[in-house]
Amino acid sequence: MTRTHYHTCPLCEATCGLCITVENGQAVSVKGDKDDVFSKGYLCPKGASLGTLHHDPDRLRRPLVKKNGKFVEVSWDEAFSTVEKGIMPLIKKFGRDAVGVYLGNPCSHTLAGTLAVRPLLKAMGSRNIFSASTVDQMPRHVASGLMFGHPTIIAVPDVDRTRFMLILGADPVTSNGSLATAPNWPRRLRDLKKRGGRLVVVDPRTSATVRLADTHLAIRPGGDVFLLMAMVNVLFAENRVKPGRLADFTNGIETVRELCRPFTPAAVAAHTGLDPAQITALTRDLAAAESAVVYGRMGTSTVPFGALTNWLVDVINILTGNLDRPGGAMFPCPAHLPRKKKPGGRGWTLGRWQSRVNGMNEVMGELPVAALADEMETDGDGRIRALLTIASNPVIALPNARRVDRALAGLDFMVAIDFYVTASTRHADVILPPTGPLSTAHYDVAFYNLSVRNIAHYSPPVLEMPKEEPEAEMDKWEIMYKLALIFSGQGAGADIKSLDDFIIQMMVAGAAKKETSPFHGQEAQMLDLLSPFKGPDRMLDFMIRTGAHGDGFGLNPDHFDPDGLNLEKLKNLPHGLDLGPLTEMLPGHLKTASGRIELAPELMVKDVDRLAKTMDTAPAGLVLVGRRHLRTNNSWMPNIPALVSGPPRCVLHINPADAQNQGLRDGDPATIETRVGSVTAPVKVTDRIRPGVVSLPHGWGHDLEGVAMQVARKHGGINSNILSDESVFDPVSCTTVLNGIPVSVKPARGLG
Ligand code: SF4
Repeated sequence: MTRTHYHTCPLCEATCGLCITVENGQAVSVKGDKDDVFSKGYLCPKGASLGTLHHDPDRLRRPLVKKNGKFVEVSWDEAFSTVEKGIMPLIKKFGRDAVGVYLGNPCSHTLAGTLAVRPLLKAMGSRNIFSASTVDQMPRHVASGLMFGHPTIIAVPDVDRTRFMLILGADPVTSNGSLATAPNWPRRLRDLKKRGGRLVVVDPRTSATVRLADTHLAIRPGGDVFLLMAMVNVLFAENRVKPGRLADFTNGIETVRELCRPFTPAAVAAHTGLDPAQITALTRDLAAAESAVVYGRMGTSTVPFGALTNWLVDVINILTGNLDRPGGAMFPCPAHLPRKKKPGGRGWTLGRWQSRVNGMNEVMGELPVAALADEMETDGDGRIRALLTIASNPVIALPNARRVDRALAGLDFMVAIDFYVTASTRHADVILPPTGPLSTAHYDVAFYNLSVRNIAHYSPPVLEMPKEEPEAEMDKWEIMYKLALIFSGQGAGADIKSLDDFIIQMMVAGAAKKETSPFHGQEAQMLDLLSPFKGPDRMLDFMIRTGAHGDGFGLNPDHFDPDGLNLEKLKNLPHGLDLGPLTEMLPGHLKTASGRIELAPELMVKDVDRLAKTMDTAPAGLVLVGRRHLRTNNSWMPNIPALVSGPPRCVLHINPADAQNQGLRDGDPATIETRVGSVTAPVKVTDRIRPGVVSLPHGWGHDLEGVAMQVARKHGGINSNILSDESVFDPVSCTTVLNGIPVSVKPARGLG
């Protein structure tokens, strides 16, 4: 029997709609859904591979327990009982911090990873929480938290309406966008130019996005902070600061005027590698544009001044009056969150606790990944002796990868929620595989909060999950709840239904607690109306009904439109619901204690001092940057033949002048070395990278002993994180420097 299903692609932030044809229980084709309200038929090679991923014979269907050094398939009961026996004695003896958790990037792409993970983390009660956020995006959260009062209040580029877009350290045409959810970046950027707008891209490489740009500024890695400071300097010096209505609720404009004084375009020339006249002209053009937006991503975050650079992105959007206006940087209003109407809140802070070994700051309840190996390897009270990894591959994804690999091997116990035996999960004692991506429901909780249009799209599972033993599979949320029950001391035999009911009762009680709440006294009716669902679906229904476009359970016509949204309505919209372009959200959206934008938070003011001290140190020597490929997604999908075949991608890009200096020719093997490690890669001599910079892609290195992914092992590639140094980081956000790593490059005798 042939059936057609529509499903949002869960593989990256773009949230494309897919049209999936299923024959006899097999997804036989995956195409772009032409009727999807957001992606309108667009898809990339990764999305087209979703069926292959689901049906991959190497994908684990049954839990594995390591016995005598070898993985053995076991029943779910035995797997959970092994977890309990391995973890609970450690907690009893050494306390809750003895068990750490590392949440991988795919967590934010699933309903379970965004909603069900919270009860699990609460039940664990450990301060040793780590996630992929501190690999490359915490600087963005820090800047938003300090300026707007909450780290998730992130302004996204209104790419569909802007007349001038300045992109720094991002290649959305290749990556499909990040912290700015929008399917089909190539079309959106071409449309910007078609309507007479201008695209300027700042990048040391000629990326795919650069190829669409009107202007390319090939900056030195790490120079973005100087460029942006100089642009702020020009805005003030030429009296081009025009915040418009933002001035009514912005503190600190005069402080910023003083801070930027020393950073003239001429003063930053050595750090940016750019002509001062180019910086002045760029600033004038941006300030004069009918609407404009500055957008920065990975390359602005994984640098020594990541938080400061992200702060400056917003500073320029604010000083030019382009924050919170069409064509500028705007705040989404997703269906699953309430719309805040009155400005003000508790404000936000970081550093509420520090990592035990090297005193790195907590940010958003997490410690930085740069601290993880130290916390696992250094003896003493609070040492991480057991680790839970969820959809993550720290041996590939984290800095100083070889050290992370050794540290995982030295743990007393490790549990992984993952459906592959990867470079990391090969160290686990127990692997708990969630069901495949086509057997689980989807709604992008994380990314509709970063979307360039307000969109709501719920996708039910495409294929039924096997429920009967011996083939029974479990959804990720069920695994998480089971672990939560173990961590909370209720044991591996406890039933997840009681926890699931308790969680929704708590959510409803929280919403109805205050006497002023529109839901006060309506708890029983609310629970009754939520009862057709369970797990994250039920949480989502609650969030949508109480959200900005919700029906308020039909109980509150004074506060909610009774014809508004609920999950049942969304389920009947297979192509999604377009809730329109972004609209003005300020000042009501602000959660700062003052209820105003804090343009000059103390931490940023102090960090400008640190920046000023580096002004006289001229950068020198070769530095390494990363790069993406349309067919890769960090370390996620290396076992899909269509995504890893073709010419080798782990090649070192090097400028002809540098190649000549090092005595390297195209195709020669080169040894690349840093303080922490060395790798050997063939070189590609290309003028698509500026002199002084070399580039390797990330997310590779899957050919390690024990990895049970046949395709990935064959196309192993080079793990660029062998070169990255966890001891070099931005001290404000504690994010490791991954772009601009000093390296030596020399000819190698043979490929390693
Ligand atoms: S761009 Fe992202 S969301 Fe769209 S098909 Fe590709 S991987 Fe999926």
